[in-house]
This record gives sequence, structure tokens and C-alpha cells, in this order.
Amino acid sequence: MDSLYQLVRQPSNVVIVTHKNPDGDALGSSLALAAVLSKLRHTVKVVLPNDFPPLFNFLPGIDNAIIGEMNPAEAVEAFEKADIIFCLDFNSLDRIDRFGLDVASADRATKILIDHHIDPEPFADHIISNTSASSTAELVYDFLVDMKLETYIDIPIAEAIYTGILMDTGSFRYGTNERVFEVAAALKRLGMDDYLLQIRLFNSMTEKQLKLLGHCLANRMELISEYQTGIIWLDRVDYKNWAIGRGDTEGIVNYVLMVRNMKMAVFISEQQNVTKLSFRSKGNINVQEICSQYFNGGGHRNASGGMMKASVKDTLAKVKEIIPLTMNSYQLQHDQ
Ligand code: 5GP
Ligand code: MN
Repeated sequence: MDSLYQLVRQPSNVVIVTHKNPDGDALGSSLALAAVLSKLRHTVKVVLPNDFPPLFNFLPGIDNAIIGEMNPAEAVEAFEKADIIFCLDFNSLDRIDRFGLDVASADRATKILIDHHIDPEPFADHIISNTSASSTAELVYDFLVDMKLETYIDIPIAEAIYTGILMDTGSFRYGTNERVFEVAAALKRLGMDDYLLQIRLFNSMTEKQLKLLGHCLANRMELISEYQTGIIWLDRVDYKNWAIGRGDTEGIVNYVLMVRNMKMAVFISEQQNVTKLSFRSKGNINVQEICSQYFNGGGHRNASGGMMKASVKDTLAKVKEIIPLTMNSYQLQHDQ
């Protein structure tokens, strides 16, 4: 921390990179840190491997982020020039696709990982990893406090941090700890309008998104009550018929867990080249293990993701094969 304290006070070229398909925590934590470091006269570039959902358009500085998929040369140049690379909200370099190679080969840069996912790979010079943290945004707030930089947090920065916290805790419903409520209080004390953020983030669906949710629940959901697991799937035809875009399926997986006694939820979506899986669970059911063992993925105990190079049909079959194996190793109980 002492060496980082010196480092952040010396204006330099900083790159902040976060994971592919960036979510509210990836974006909020990255943009908050970028805004503070810009105030310290660093030249800061935020690199997103691919585009972000329009829901997050309001975050400070998001328009200046380099979208790697669209401007790869600009992203590569940023990594080459970097004196410091912050890696936020991911635990292994394959989470940033081809830019993992650029981070790995950026020998002159000091690499700092700030993350809350299980099993961080040791690719950084400094690793701030806390799997008990609600979000990377919470860890960025604490990092700013440790660096004695919290006075630089203005209202847009507070909103970015709070966005990360809200999205990763589902509005303080899961993944919470004592500290995250203290951080929220500190942000509110600064004058951040938390009610406005709730409306922006959770009451801002498009009509299409709400109807797509209806389609998923009415036509694409299968509950296997014996194993207290539910699955929702969308295939390529759904993607075409509904013109599904980035962010349109965000959060749909969580609805399965609203059903009494459901312990695990799986959302399967057929993308261009791969089929993506999202897992959610309640209590001690460990979906991180399932995703790392079977689906080349990972994340957190109760929220993980992965992928399979197979059709939706084959992926569904694989999931159904795994469910009994996994769920039988738990003493399943009904909700109280
Ligand atoms: P989501 O289901 O919302 O895409 O992701 C849930 C959690 O799992 C997030 O923390 C996310 O970073 C992680 N995650 C999602 N997909 C992958 C993946 O393909 N690989 C790994 N390692 N983690 C993932
Ligand atoms: Mn996160």
C-alpha cells in the first residue's frame, strides 16, 4: 500500500481494464477510479473488451471508454504506453479476451488487480482480492480511502460506485456485508441521490425487455422441483425474433429464485459462436464449482457464469445431466 500511495500521486499513463460483457460493477468501479485518477492529472484510458448496455449511459466518462472490439488498435496502443494497468472486477486474463495478451506482455507497467471473484490468477504485481466484498466498487471505495483520496469523490463518482454496489447486490438483497452499508452511508452523506439511481437502474426497462421477460417466464422456463432447480433458455431464433441486444437479458435468471424452494437457477443463451450460461443459487449451493468444473467459467459461490461450444439443445442436456450429480451432494431442504 505504501508503494501504491506514491505511485498514484505521480502523474502517468494509466489504463483501467475490466471484463468482457461489462456489467454495472465492472463499469461503475472502472469509471469511478478513472475519474479520481484523472483529477490527480494522470492520463487515464478505460478499456472495455466489448460494448456496454445502454442502461449505463449515464455513468461519468463512459463515452470516452475505448471499446476494444471496435477499436482494437487504440486499445493495444493504450496498453503499450501504460505505466500502470488496473485490472478491475475479473480474476483471470482470459476474461478480457485478446487483450489478456496485451496485459501479460506489458512488462514496463505496474499491474494492480482489484477484484472480488474466487481464485484470482497471480498475473498482477499487486493483488487486492477480497471474495467477501459485495462488489469491486466497494473495493475501489476502500482503495481510495486507503490511498487517502476519498476527498476526490464527487457526486458522479459516488453514483458510479453506488451503481456497482447496487447491481452486484441486487439492491442490497445478496452478497452484502457490514462494510457495504457503511460505504453506502458515506456516499449518501456526500449528497448522492440513491432514489434516482434506483429508478435509473431498476425502473428503466424498455417495453421490449419486459415482454421478453414475460416470454422467458411463460415459454422458456422449466422447473425441476425434485432438484430445486430451474432453467430458462433462449436460442438463436429467439435472439432474432426479439432483436435481443446487449443487456436485454440481464437479471432474467434471478426470477427463478423467486419461486419458493428453488435453490439454483440456470440461464442458457445461444450466442454467435458459443452458448453462455449464467448460474445463480441460494445459500450453500456452490455454482462457482459447477461453472469452473464443467463450463470453463467461474465467479462467485452464488453467482457464476461460463460457456460451452455447443447448441442450446446440447447445453441443456449437459445441464440436466449435471443437476442431479450436483444437487444430490447437498442436503436439500425446503425454504422456511
Ligand atoms: P453473469 O451470469 O451475470 O454473466 O455473471 C455472474 C458472475 O460470474 C459475474 O461475477 C461474472 O464476472 C462471472 N462470470 C460470468 N461469465 C463468466 C465466464 O465465462 N468465466 C468466468 N470466469 N466468470 C464468469
Ligand atoms: Mn463484480
